[in-house]
Amino acid sequence: MTKPDRAEIIRLLSITDKDELDKLFKQAYATKLQHVGNKVYFRGIVELSNICKKDCYYCGIRSGNQNVDRFVLSKDEAVSSALWAYEQQYGSVVIQSGERDDEQFVDFIEDIVRTIRQKSNNELGITLSLGEQTEETYKRWYAAGAHRYLLRIETSNRDLYAKLHPADHDWDYRVGCIRTLKRLGYQCGTGVMIGLPYQNLEHLADDIMFFWEEDIDMLGMGPYIPHDDTPLARAIPDYNEEEHLSLALKMIAVCRVLLKDVNIASTTALQALKDDGRELGLLAGANIIMPNITETKYRTNYQLYRGKPCLDENAGMCRGCLERRISAIGEEIGYAQWGDSPHWKKTHGK
Ligand code: SAH
Repeated sequence: MTKPDRAEIIRLLSITDKDELDKLFKQAYATKLQHVGNKVYFRGIVELSNICKKDCYYCGIRSGNQNVDRFVLSKDEAVSSALWAYEQQYGSVVIQSGERDDEQFVDFIEDIVRTIRQKSNNELGITLSLGEQTEETYKRWYAAGAHRYLLRIETSNRDLYAKLHPADHDWDYRVGCIRTLKRLGYQCGTGVMIGLPYQNLEHLADDIMFFWEEDIDMLGMGPYIPHDDTPLARAIPDYNEEEHLSLALKMIAVCRVLLKDVNIASTTALQALKDDGRELGLLAGANIIMPNITETKYRTNYQLYRGKPCLDENAGMCRGCLERRISAIGEEIGYAQWGDSPHWKKTHGK
């Protein structure tokens, strides 16, 4: 893939004219059809725990937020949610959690991954999204059967990263984790929040250059949405949902046009800003959706940002709703398939 042109990225992200925007989305959609097809793959997401040792200034479940009831799913709860997804032919699950690296947690995840693999006859794909860990931990989880990992860099700019995190949160260590994951054989996903406080279009252009340079397989990006119990709650006084949504959709489209064959998720945060935000994400070039399969009673305690949708729904309701939404825009769901990143397949001779 040729190196993206930074100036061109900034030009595309600056578009506001409606016709030009339509043109960009159409180009992104055509690129998607050509390089990844019109199938949407599901990754059922299990929100395993909101206990977190990190204190990121934008996140609702940061350790410093006293207004959250902390929970951890039991092994049975986590495994049965995953097996529900298996029965529904979702193909893959994502296990996501606040960050912990204690031995008990590492063992717990290993056990859950192994059990899900066994009980699904090795058929259910497993992605982990459990933050920064040691190489040893990543190796153990890979050996247990996880094969994809999502670790957003959040922003590729060190200085901006330092404004959004406490001093002991280390950007370089995080990049090192992404490289380690790739080296160990994981399909590796990263991403950023779009429209962060202090972020400009140059930062976002550099984010795309970063995805290209790190040879990323999958992308999960979403709009930044303030959470009231965070230090950054009022950092953008004139926060405008429409503008944030539009910028996030442009980022998806530009990534599709330039990076072509990576998997790109249409994230829940898009839906938080607009009811059909995820469908708009698919039309702007995304090809992955991560339906929430967490038991309803835990959902209210996993609020990373304000206005997270579907808190009072259950996994079955989300499935029916998604099917209707996806067929309404003329796409198909790739049931019972892993839907691996075509980029990863190509670079790994598959
Ligand atoms: N602990 C894991 C999972 C984090 S939660 C990890 O570190 O990878 C998943 C993602 O939610 C984060 O990577 C972040 O990009 C996103 N997120 C957190 N707070 C947010 C906010 N206020 N608005 C939008 N996205 C947010």
